Amino acid sequence: MAYQHIVVPDGEKITSLDTSQMPDNPIIAFIEGDGIGKDIMTASKRIWDAAVEKAYGGQKKIAWMEIYAGEKAAQVYDGDYMPEETFQALRDYLVGIKGPLTTPVGGGFRSLNVTLRQVLDLYACVRPVRWYEGVPSPMREPNLVDMVIFRENTEDVYAGIEYEAGTPENEKITQFLREELGAKFFDGSGIGVKPISAFGTKRLMRSAIRYAIERGRKSIAIMHKGNIQKFTEGAFRQWCYEVAAEEFPDETISEDELWDKYDGKLPEGKILIKDRIADIIFQHMLLRPSEFDIIVAPNLNGDYLSDALAAQVGGVGIAPGANIGDEVMLFEATHGTAPKYTDLDVVNPGSLMFSGVMMLEFMGWWDAAKLVQEGYTKTLAQKVVTYDFARQMAGATKVKTSEFATAIIGNM
Ligand code: NAP
Repeated sequence: MAYQHIVVPDGEKITSLDTSQMPDNPIIAFIEGDGIGKDIMTASKRIWDAAVEKAYGGQKKIAWMEIYAGEKAAQVYDGDYMPEETFQALRDYLVGIKGPLTTPVGGGFRSLNVTLRQVLDLYACVRPVRWYEGVPSPMREPNLVDMVIFRENTEDVYAGIEYEAGTPENEKITQFLREELGAKFFDGSGIGVKPISAFGTKRLMRSAIRYAIERGRKSIAIMHKGNIQKFTEGAFRQWCYEVAAEEFPDETISEDELWDKYDGKLPEGKILIKDRIADIIFQHMLLRPSEFDIIVAPNLNGDYLSDALAAQVGGVGIAPGANIGDEVMLFEATHGTAPKYTDLDVVNPGSLMFSGVMMLEFMGWWDAAKLVQEGYTKTLAQKVVTYDFARQMAGATKVKTSEFATAIIGNM
C-alpha cells in the first residue's frame, strides 16, 4: 500500500490481533503527539527498544512507522490535522501507539482523540491502574490498588447528542418530549441524549471477560447508576450480567451464586461478576481497593473513575491506556499535551512508557515488558525522578525526561 507521506519501514505486517501470530519484526505505527509528545515519545521508544533488545538479543525488534495527527500532521499535510491515510495506516497495520494531541480550536474536529476512537470503532478504553514502589501517593496503602478499568468509548455522553437551549432543534425536541411523552422539565433546558445499547455494552463486557480469563483476574465489577437511570445504566448492568451468564457460564459466577452455592469462597478458576452503584464505588476505591480487580463502566462513569483512580497511584502523569476495537488497537498516553513544557525535556514519560508496556504485553513480549517495569522500579528506588515526582519526594534527584529514560535503561 503506497501512502502519500507515510514511509513504511522494513518489517513484517501484523495481520491479526491474535497474539500467537505476532511476527518477530512487527511494523508498529506511532503518532508522536503535540506539545510534550515529542519528548515523551523519543524517551519511551528508547526505553521500549532497549528492553526488547535486552530481552531477545536482536531476535525480535519493532519496526517503527511514523503516522501523523495533530499539529505535525497539519505541517506535513498542508493544514489537515487528521489525514485520511492515518486512519488507513492503522486499519492496515492494526497496532499503534500515540502521544497526546491538541484539539485545534475552531477546527473541523470536536476532538482528534474522540475522532480516532469513533472512526476506528475503538470501543473499549482500557486503563490498568497499579502502584509502583516509591511513587508518591495520597493513599496509606497504595499497594492495594491493582485494577483494570474497561470503559465504554463510543456511546453514552460521548455520542455527543446534545441540543442547546434556545435553538430550533431544542424547541422541537422539547415539544416532542412534553407533548408526546409527557416529560416535565424547566423551560430553557439544554437537552442531552444518553444512548446505551445492548450491542455496545455486550461487546465491552465480552472483551473484559476475555481479558480476565487471559490474565487470571478474579473479579469484574459492573459500575452503574442503574438505581436512578434504569433504562440506560440499569440496562448496562443487566446486559453485562447476561453476557457473563450466557456466553461464559463455565468461567464466571455471580455474587448471588457465590453466597448461595459456595459460602462466599470463590471457586478456583472462576471469575466473580458483581455490580456496584457508581457513587459508592468512589468510596470503596479509597477504603477497600483490594476488593476490586476489573471494573466495567459506561463512558462517563468510567471517565471520572479512571482519573480518580490514577490519582491514587501517582496521577495521570504515569497512568497508561489503550483504546481497543475488534480490528485495531491504539495505545496512548492518558494525559494531555501540557503545552507549557513543550520541548523542555522535563516531563514524566511514564504514562506513554507504561502504555507501551501494555502493548508489549499484548504482543506477548512479556520479558521486554517486565524489563521496563523493573528498570522503572529500580530508578524510582534510587529516587531519580522527573520534576513532578521530585516535588513530592524528599531527597529526590530531579532529572530531565531523556536522563530519566537513560536511567531506566541502565537499570534494566
Ligand atoms: P494536560 O496536558 O494533561 O496537563 C495538565 C497538567 O498535568 C500539566 O500542566 C502538568 O501539571 C500535568 N502533566 C500532564 N502530563 C504530564 C507529564 N507527562 N508529566 C508530568 N506532569 C504532567 O491537560 P490540559 O492542560 O488540560 O490540556 C492541554 C491540551 O491537551 C489540550 O489541548 C487538551 O485538549 C489536550 N488533551 C489531550 C489528551 C489526549 O491526547 N489524550 C488528553 C487530555 C487533554 P503541572 O502544571 O502541575 O506540572
